Amino acid sequence: MEYDIVIIGGGVVGCAVARLLSAYEGSIALIERSTDVAEGASKANSGIVHAGFDAEPGSLKAKLNVEGAGMYEALCAELGVPFARPGALVLAFDEEQRATVEDLYHKGLANGVEGLEIIGRERILELEPNVNPQVVCALWAKTSGLVSPYELTYALADHAVINGVDFLLETEAKDIHKENGTFVVSTTKGDLHARVLVNCAGISSARLHNMLSDTKYEVIARKGEYYLLDHTVAPAFTRTMFQTPGKMGKGILVSPTTHGNLLLGPTAEDVTDDWDTATTAAALRMVSEKARRTWPKENLRTCVTTFAGIRAHEKGGDFIVGPTQGVKGAYEAIGIESPGLSASPAIAQRLVSQILQDNPLKKKVEWKPAYKGPKPFSGMTIQERAEAYAQNPEYGAVICRCEQVTEAEIRDAIRRPLGARTLDAVKRRTRAGMGRCQGGFCSPRVLEILAEELKVDPTQVTKSGGKSYLLVGTLASITGKEDA
Ligand SMILES: Cc1cc2nc3c(=O)[nH]c(=O)nc-3n(C[C@H](O)[C@H](O)[C@H](O)COP(=O)(O)OP(=O)(O)OC[C@H]3O[C@@H](n4cnc5c(N)ncnc54)[C@H](O)[C@@H]3O)c2cc1C
Repeated sequence: MEYDIVIIGGGVVGCAVARLLSAYEGSIALIERSTDVAEGASKANSGIVHAGFDAEPGSLKAKLNVEGAGMYEALCAELGVPFARPGALVLAFDEEQRATVEDLYHKGLANGVEGLEIIGRERILELEPNVNPQVVCALWAKTSGLVSPYELTYALADHAVINGVDFLLETEAKDIHKENGTFVVSTTKGDLHARVLVNCAGISSARLHNMLSDTKYEVIARKGEYYLLDHTVAPAFTRTMFQTPGKMGKGILVSPTTHGNLLLGPTAEDVTDDWDTATTAAALRMVSEKARRTWPKENLRTCVTTFAGIRAHEKGGDFIVGPTQGVKGAYEAIGIESPGLSASPAIAQRLVSQILQDNPLKKKVEWKPAYKGPKPFSGMTIQERAEAYAQNPEYGAVICRCEQVTEAEIRDAIRRPLGARTLDAVKRRTRAGMGRCQGGFCSPRVLEILAEELKVDPTQVTKSGGKSYLLVGTLASITGKEDA
């Protein structure tokens, strides 16, 4: 297959690049090794749109963080993705940490962050009564935001699909080389040829870069593990509660999510397996112990799940965003660890303007508007529910009781431009299976709907692609008895 542009990686960065490029003439493909987009770091992070006080002044991280964070209101409004700026506190518990807080304040000012203030114990406890009263002071970052990282990624991908980008899922780039000025990307599904290549492959980005360029990079997998608490109990905090950062990252936070859950974590541990997202008792114990410093009355009884994400930490420490050194036509985003979600709109803008500068493309006469999914049934008023039901009786069937997700929303998730193909893909698009019972009740029904919509046998439906089948066969096929 031949394309003008091939993007490797369907995380928030690759999808943001695909969306912006879809406004221009030309054939574009995005390849993703998983069954869905947002299966890498973009599904398993803290979901914080960082204000930008943490990154080193003068670094690309700092610049793109502040720029990207400032783009969130407009982007999320255009895509119909929930976004809020509840703010954040960085808590100091001793004099050494007070100095760190002061340092962060000055870094923030140097980075151009607005709305920063250092506040004392009394004010902290007024804002957040559940904070440990031993706190001495805090940096209050009023512009710190919250977003659902995978919902943003799906919305970016949907918009790109609507405007003609081909999303080739379950397609892994194995090798890249250049032949007569054209890139040849050898994938698990055959070769793709492209004039322009954009490497947004997260944890694999350095490996793919090193196949093309003489400048070598090294990305280290840095795991972060979390507890997620249910939203049926009001979160103990209304803002993101950071502790002072360390050498390995921003430290353990306690933060509400866009859906009203509470998140505790993440750890930061270098691992040798790029895809090792298993959680461990030891790491989670550490999260719980450290989080108690922020939240002495910590209560993990409402924990609905634990999960882990892998940061792509480049040894040099900064983001690498731009043309691939010495390789004409290739562009890349490497080492996009935190604050990569916050920076992603700016990373995409920077890459796309560099691509367009070197490869002028004609703007399309029409860039079709984004797909905005239906309003969640769980957030509707009684009146809205009645109206939705009158128009579509599938709103009358609540499939996920914990999260109040209806059949109408599940079918929509499968039919949307980059539709769900697995149980997990439905879960993240609709929240069916995200609640207290973690899909115990709704999974069989979601599976049936997926089979119906995709016109496949129920035994072919998977949890998350590959061989993660949920059913092994019919009772008759297993027992050999016709009436089983
Ligand atoms: C624990 C943790 C907490 C974080 N917290 C925050 C936060 O609160 N705020 C913030 O701003 N940032 C945060 N981040 C960082 C943020 O998640 C990342 O910067 C961002 O998601 C990176 O997006 P990406 O598209 O570059 O990478 P990814 O989302 O990893 O996407 C890369 C994609 O490429 C695919 N891929 C890889 N190799 C190949 C191949 N060979 N062929 C085809 N496809 C391939 C992968 O499957 C993946 O889908 C956090 C990260 C972690 C892990």
